Amino acid sequence: MFCIIDDKHVPLFRIVWISDVPHFCGSEECLYEGRYEVRLEAQESVFASREERDDCLEAIRLWQVGEEEEE
Ligand SMILES: [Zn+2]
Repeated sequence: MFCIIDDKHVPLFRIVWISDVPHFCGSEECLYEGRYEVRLEAQESVFASREERDDCLEAIRLWQVGEEEEE
């Protein structure tokens, strides 16, 4: 029930939303340009590469499917 984002194991249930478009703020010093923001509880965010984001979405999808099958 975890996905790996930016070298962190993030529990799927802590994810609030996942950005559909890459982060862009225009700052030259921004380390996350072109990465996808993943919002967590407690107003934290992590930034995923496209591949990490897609893996994460897939993990959430499988998790939901698993929950439905248990009912
Ligand atoms: Zn930025």
